[in-house]
Amino acid sequence: MKGTEEEKKRFGALLFDAGTMSRYIPEASMECWRNCVRTRTVLPENVADDIADGMKRWALENGATHYTHWFQPLTGETAEKHEGFLVPDGEGGCRMEFSRRELVRGEPDASSFPSGGLRSTFEARGYSAWDPTSFAFIKDGVLCIPTVFLAYSGEVLDKKTPLLRSQEALNTQALRVLRLLGDAGSESIRVNVGAEQEYFLIPKALYEKREDLKLCGRTLIGADAPKKQELEDHYFGAIKPEVIAFMHDVNEALWELGICAKTEHNEVAPAQYEMAPFFTDANTANDQNQLTMEVMRRTADRHGMVCLFNEKPFAGINGSGKHVNWSVATDQGENLFSPGSTPAENTRFLLFLAAFLKGVDEYPELLRCSCAYAGNDQRLGGQEAPPAVISVFVGTELENVIDAIIRETPYVGREADPLLAGKDVLLSLSRDNTDRNRTSPVAFTGNKFEFRMPGASQSIATPVTYLNTILAGELKEIADELEQSAAPKEAVKPLTRRLLKDHRRILFSGNGYDPSWPAEAEKRGLRNLRTTAETIPEYASEKNVRLLTENGIYSLREIASRNEIHQEKYCGIRIIEARTMLMMIRRRILGAVSANLAAVDRSFTFEKRIAEDTGARGNRLFNAADALEKVLARAEALEGEEKLAVCSGELLERMAECRKICDELEKTLDARFWPYPTYTELLFSI
Ligand code: ADP
Ligand code: MG
Repeated sequence: MKGTEEEKKRFGALLFDAGTMSRYIPEASMECWRNCVRTRTVLPENVADDIADGMKRWALENGATHYTHWFQPLTGETAEKHEGFLVPDGEGGCRMEFSRRELVRGEPDASSFPSGGLRSTFEARGYSAWDPTSFAFIKDGVLCIPTVFLAYSGEVLDKKTPLLRSQEALNTQALRVLRLLGDAGSESIRVNVGAEQEYFLIPKALYEKREDLKLCGRTLIGADAPKKQELEDHYFGAIKPEVIAFMHDVNEALWELGICAKTEHNEVAPAQYEMAPFFTDANTANDQNQLTMEVMRRTADRHGMVCLFNEKPFAGINGSGKHVNWSVATDQGENLFSPGSTPAENTRFLLFLAAFLKGVDEYPELLRCSCAYAGNDQRLGGQEAPPAVISVFVGTELENVIDAIIRETPYVGREADPLLAGKDVLLSLSRDNTDRNRTSPVAFTGNKFEFRMPGASQSIATPVTYLNTILAGELKEIADELEQSAAPKEAVKPLTRRLLKDHRRILFSGNGYDPSWPAEAEKRGLRNLRTTAETIPEYASEKNVRLLTENGIYSLREIASRNEIHQEKYCGIRIIEARTMLMMIRRRILGAVSANLAAVDRSFTFEKRIAEDTGARGNRLFNAADALEKVLARAEALEGEEKLAVCSGELLERMAECRKICDELEKTLDARFWPYPTYTELLFSI
């Protein structure tokens, strides 16, 4: 977007946002809609009638022929089923039909979406219901109406509803605390989220040749390229023209959808990039991130490339995350995590900070669980992504403030420290009062927290839901306690001090990648849940169930169903990976070994030696594949936790064994016979 008037007009051209709505909907109905959204009350039917009518006119004028309820089932992706506007008018002609009925409720025959036992296939009914708080948009000539998705029994089957519920919980509890602090003006709370999206771009022609990338989204075999990321020459490097062309088209498509794509740059690993949008309210940010991934996938395809969101598509180099920047503000625009210039005196900030720290310390398993996916297991805990131990980084200045509060000594601030003063550049710049920490899973970055654990492919809905919920849960306890007090305002400081003191152990400013950290964390009593398999059983623990049900996020049945889906998904992915690997070994790699052996003319000593080594490796691979197949068959036959144990244990071990031999073969086989594009080709061709 170059900022010309014409281009500015294209921004949000395909989004039915408030500005556009007011051109199609009578003012009285708009006013009513705004009020309902602000006060979270039910929209009257006549207003929904007006909105449906305006939406239809806008969509038809903008070339839409179909509409769909657009929802976010528990697959973590989005779902849509298009309906034409066209209906016969009974006189041989047709008319365009779309009214409140179609807007507010859909009935997708959704028996094939994961429900974790909440719905049997004979009770196929699922409902989608319009979410009037997020704007409709047009994608490929289809009017998309963001909706929630629930079962006939009323239980929710999607990722959006719990997010909305968690906002509601946080809204209620934060307002209670604000009132106790003497804030009479704020009427609602807004959660702001900006999700940084990392991804890889590789040539489509090479992708097509690899079954592992096509079926699993990551490479299951592949020897290191001679060059990885050791020269640190890719990060923030000049972006190649092919990639610029891709980013340009992505930006244009996103801007039309009203998504404010803001930063773009090369990431650490070769062929890795990042895009960050301007932050917005959590519900919108979640919708936008789903759309962003879709736009990126398609745009890459048009450019002859493939966009990979898997958390660890290539071994040995960095994986991709999705950093969730999260803050909480009042409707007056005041950020509750903003420390101001004198944090030590900012009572409200310190209380909200203490509440959040307590929440992270008490519910680390829940946060960990929200990022526990097969792909992310390969990423977390490497020397590149946050470790699996949850801790919080707040920076030196805040840590000093907190320690002064705990010790009950006055806090002596540091003088603003000049960074450069008119010598090297003709400017005076002061140093930020704290450095950044890139190794912490939860880092305070000035006025927001950056949750760095989520994986690049996953929906941000659940991580944000849990961030909201743990804060809501703590604020509830705080409000309960303060309400009991004869002088709530005086009780705030001692309460804040107690919370900070009790939960000081969650703060860690050191290097999270340092091998000594897990041991130190263990001494502090912090959990280190390294894998999804270790994490899943923690999900339905008593304290988590209490937090989630008391704050109205899930019912007991919804928790059980999500647990089941989580487990099934993990096992499903591992089983597909194992099958794919077997196919690659048996149908191609062993054949390549034989072909190479047959081509060797053993008249020279070196050729004999190579043939012997290759033959021996071929034999080992053949046996390792057999062993993998046996474990796979066992995993496929098991259920529940036993299946989880095999899929996350033995199956992965057997796969690692096969991979090791494949990678040795790749490094030594005559290149003419190796059947797959190598890491060098995949990562250094664009
Ligand atoms: P980084 O230096 O961490 O990579 P980026 O600029 O890539 O920073 O991304 C930061 C993200 O945080 C952006 O999406 C930005 O809009 C978002 N952000 C900024 N301020 C806030 C805030 N107060 N609340 C939530 N998100 C925010
Ligand atoms: Mg960034």
